[in-house]
Amino acid sequence: MEKHIPVEINHVKAQRLVRITWDDGHVGDYPLEHLRGYCPCALCQGHDAALGTKFISVPGVGLQTIAPVGNYAVEFHWQDGHSTGIYSYDYLRSLCPCAACVSEQESE
Ligand SMILES: [Zn+2]
Ligand SMILES: [Zn+2]
Repeated sequence: MEKHIPVEINHVKAQRLVRITWDDGHVGDYPLEHLRGYCPCALCQGHDAALGTKFISVPGVGLQTIAPVGNYAVEFHWQDGHSTGIYSYDYLRSLCPCAACVSEQESE
């Protein structure tokens, strides 16, 4: 898989999504529930993470801040105080819910 770096990450509050612009010009809109649902932390994923990432539904979840982690990941701080998920750029890119990315993943 190609490596991509986000050049811009915006919390679009009115639409309850995070818009990520990547270095290859790709733009992904990530609904907050989608991002939080795929939180990669051990608390959310348990110890069977090797089986693949589970989706944990947190309806109505709000996003407080987005913090960079080194130069490889970002951390989302949720309004319910949850902030242990570190989303690597690779992981974030793989979560992109747009039709082009989803069909690419299904064909792999
Ligand atoms: Zn989590
Ligand atoms: Zn995409």
